Amino acid sequence: MDDGKARADRRETLDGAARAGRVTLVGGGPGTSDLLTVAGARALAEADVVLYDRLAPHGELATLAPHAILIDVGKTPGHHPVSQRDIEALIVCHALTGAHVVRLKGGDPYVFGRGSEEVVACQAAGVPVRVVPGVTSAVAVPAAAGIPLTHRGVSHMFTVVSGHAPLTDSELEHLAGLGGTIVVLMGVGTLPSITQGLVRHGAPTTLPVAIIERGYSDSQATTIGTLASIVFDAAAARVSSPAVLVIGEVVRLAHDGDASAATLLARAEALADVS
Ligand code: SAH
Repeated sequence: MDDGKARADRRETLDGAARAGRVTLVGGGPGTSDLLTVAGARALAEADVVLYDRLAPHGELATLAPHAILIDVGKTPGHHPVSQRDIEALIVCHALTGAHVVRLKGGDPYVFGRGSEEVVACQAAGVPVRVVPGVTSAVAVPAAAGIPLTHRGVSHMFTVVSGHAPLTDSELEHLAGLGGTIVVLMGVGTLPSITQGLVRHGAPTTLPVAIIERGYSDSQATTIGTLASIVFDAAAARVSSPAVLVIGEVVRLAHDGDASAATLLARAEALADVS
């Protein structure tokens, strides 16, 4: 067989396989399978291969995706055992064998989830790709602690930011001036620079802050303080990732069955008065 024909045949095989294979990016929600959408569960039930992250609801994958090979690409903050480019290659390669590949991600695939990069990689390889949105932790994790992001007369907007890299001074200035509620994902490491930056740009030191760790797990924990106190409160509580930060007056409305936000804030404010 001449080289040209062999190449054409191979391409035909690949094209045929690509037509048969497909990729579904599924937003898995904040970690508990009952917050997975019906569409997400349906995609998993039809999956041949599932690549999942640590923050996705992976505990029950054997039941949710009974026919699939399960691949842990287990991202944890600062530790990606499989690089993003390798994850994209794995998704595409499996799809090119004709498989239905589900990429199961935490929360929503398009909220700080690099979902868009994975869609682009599929498109570049000619693999059909579909995105099933998920319940984002930005909204769901505050709710797990009983914190509404908006409340008429208290906050009529919320801004979601990534704390993965430190915010610039101009971003902090804009955030401080916006009002409303600020939600920070991946913000445990940058908590001091965020709180100091907001205060530097005029946010009141008494503005309430909540940190909700491991939402929807058995070890969910909420730490409440103010812009002035929260760095100390977080250190005392040994706060760690994954956690969502909520900054704003809505934190006063928290009701999570533990000590009420009002009590915790009163304590933080009393301590601030003494110091
Ligand atoms: N795409 C995801 C976010 C990915 S970034 C979404 O829409 O939710 C990862 C960050 O999300 C974590 O560092 C943390 O800030 C937050 N997060 C996700 N699940 C969480 C959970 N169950 N509890 C607390 N924070 C969570």
